[in-house]
Amino acid sequence: MSHLKQADPAIYSALEKEVSRQNEGLELIASENFVSRPVMQAMGSPLTNKYAEGLPGKRYYGGCQFVDIAEDIARDRAKQVFNCEWVNVQPHSGASANAAVYLTLMKPGDVFLGLNLAHGGHLTHGSPVNFSGILYKAEYYGVEPDGPDAGRIDMNKVRDQALKVRPRMISIGASAYSRDFDYAAFRSVADEIGAFLWMDMAHTAGLIAAKIMKDPLPHCHIVSTTTHKTLRGPRGGMLLIGKDGANTMGKVAPKSGRTKNWSELFDSSVFPGMQGGPLMHVIAAKAVAFGEALEPEFITYAKQVISNSKAMANAFVERGYDVVSGGTDNHLSLIDLRNKGITGKDAEIVLGTADITVNKNMVPYDTESPFVTSGIRIGSPAMTTRGMGEDDFRTIVHLIDRVLTNAHNDSVISDVRGAIHELTDRFPLYDFVTA
Ligand SMILES: *Cc1c(COP(=O)(O)O)cnc(C)c1O
Repeated sequence: MSHLKQADPAIYSALEKEVSRQNEGLELIASENFVSRPVMQAMGSPLTNKYAEGLPGKRYYGGCQFVDIAEDIARDRAKQVFNCEWVNVQPHSGASANAAVYLTLMKPGDVFLGLNLAHGGHLTHGSPVNFSGILYKAEYYGVEPDGPDAGRIDMNKVRDQALKVRPRMISIGASAYSRDFDYAAFRSVADEIGAFLWMDMAHTAGLIAAKIMKDPLPHCHIVSTTTHKTLRGPRGGMLLIGKDGANTMGKVAPKSGRTKNWSELFDSSVFPGMQGGPLMHVIAAKAVAFGEALEPEFITYAKQVISNSKAMANAFVERGYDVVSGGTDNHLSLIDLRNKGITGKDAEIVLGTADITVNKNMVPYDTESPFVTSGIRIGSPAMTTRGMGEDDFRTIVHLIDRVLTNAHNDSVISDVRGAIHELTDRFPLYDFVTA
């Protein structure tokens, strides 16, 4: 980092402080992870200099022969990781990938059916402040309020809602849902009404890649993802079509004199539909991360993510916390704090003072506003990357509980901060700024 340090001390200093924060703190935000140094090196490379609109072998610019190699490797590895027919690795982010899905399958004003945002759904699945809710008509399914399936999706209700609102597309996927999805049941609902089925696996892509959560690809017409959450790659997005998904969508009307297939339509929604030049340095970093995801160590990692997440959820339940749906199948839990007398917002702030980073989150049927919320979302992917195991996560729950039950006691909070620094010291992260 010597060049940056000399040329731009202000930015270097911000970077140095952020690295210390990442090193010393406890990162429990469920959507975050730590990438490897090879991934970072590909990202911080001269590939950022290259314009490469188009696809490998069919670019609108000269000089693309070497970035083509990187993108071809990224695509081949992604196909191996997810056992799929087609991928596009160019979306700049999860939201861009999702925009390409809407652009391909929906016309403005069309109805789609997605998971209620207040029940774990994502902004890009119909929020009124997002393009998805502005341009299209969003209808929702949700999770059960009570009973044995409290906090879980009831597929009979999804079907009832689909028959009522007749969506052109059904979306699956969430940013705060701790259970797996019944993709086969979603597909049969979609087939019954002739709707497209789209899975946004942004959060769980790494767990699906490791084949420890159900695979959406055989059931869905289109799958989108981020590459930076459990998949542990650079910040970015991707679209995928499974081996069966593609050929069950029916024929597409001819465009410019010949019939296009769906994968070509999705490709052209990404570029030129949504984006200009792809980020070739990020695509190279995606290739590196997909290579890592093909190693046996990645399966070990993903299994540990889930074991740690379950250990954490159980430890919260043992301490009298209300874990939404009673537990977790994946890398995250949603904790309803209403019986603990603290809001999500206050919990996020006070945990932050002890160097524990979580995010406040709406819980299903929340009585607080989205700015306050009644819950927090807690995930295991980042600290699992640093090497922590179940015992460490049980210690973490103990420390979180101490903070939340002593939110106004500065000496307890400073004790906990000390304990957090001792814990994170044992699992070193990056020292590259000073190296
Ligand atoms: C994180 C997330 C996204 C958005 O990803 P960005 O890269 O932040 O745009 C989309 N969908 C779901 C379900 C997510 O969790």
